[in-house]
Amino acid sequence: MKQVSDTHLFYAFSPDMQPVLTVSQGEEFILETRDCFANQLKTNDDTLDDLDWTQINPATGPVFVEGVKPGDLLRIDIKHIELIGTSVMTTIPGSGAISGVTEASTLVLENTGGVLALPTALGDLKLELKPMIGVIGLAPESESVPNGTPGVHGGNMDCNLIGEGASLYLRAAHEGGLFGCGDIHALMGDGEVVVCGAETPARSTFEISVVDYKALPVPFLETDDRYISIASAATSDEAYKQAIDQMFDFLTDIVGLPANDAGRLMSLIGDLRFCQVVDPLITIRFEFPKAQLLELGFAGL
Ligand code: CA
Ligand code: ZN
Repeated sequence: MKQVSDTHLFYAFSPDMQPVLTVSQGEEFILETRDCFANQLKTNDDTLDDLDWTQINPATGPVFVEGVKPGDLLRIDIKHIELIGTSVMTTIPGSGAISGVTEASTLVLENTGGVLALPTALGDLKLELKPMIGVIGLAPESESVPNGTPGVHGGNMDCNLIGEGASLYLRAAHEGGLFGCGDIHALMGDGEVVVCGAETPARSTFEISVVDYKALPVPFLETDDRYISIASAATSDEAYKQAIDQMFDFLTDIVGLPANDAGRLMSLIGDLRFCQVVDPLITIRFEFPKAQLLELGFAGL
């Protein structure tokens, strides 16, 4: 299988990115990624002061997908996420969303046997792993977007449903799409409130194809049982309105529900949730169950 090693890094999704690999549509490939600290924190004694901050938030790629034209809707299937080595977390006073965390720290964590081993002052916990991809996207249309920032192109959405078996839909702005990812987390809750998840190097397997449904509002995510709209904005108020509007557009324009039916269903069985509140833009998602749409005869994406 074709793969890109973690030496082919970029730090911003930009229109002029140069591809490091070309794949066919439907061809599986692997991206090897460093953690968001570029694997610089190896022990609990490695502090943030030791970091080369120019290396923060590396992504691997970009990958050129043959036959992809500007405007094409791409389905990015996440086939597999293999964690490499240990995970690491930091606390950074002044960052994150918890005002009571005032002491900088680095904590390296074991992630074997399907669990994250988390020591606390009151005892050790084993937390079930839920690997996910924090930074994933395509080259944006005109502006260069640092990897730490989310947007319509994808980027640092930190959505913990972007994991194995999920399909992410994004619109290509350039030939080949120019796909890349980084910032894998072994585990992260909604919000990413202390400023990071269990940051982990990884090897992730993808497959990308052009699909119909050009009107699909992006970024859009599909899991085994849910459709999910994703929106990022400067405030959570703007982001949640966008996420709601995008799901509404999906249900009316693509599924074919009249407005009031879509509205009632969204209010009854839809879930508005935070992805993250710690990046330069806030990311919020709206989740809607597939089962009721299939019951209504929707054929799926
Ligand atoms: Ca992130
Ligand atoms: Zn991260």
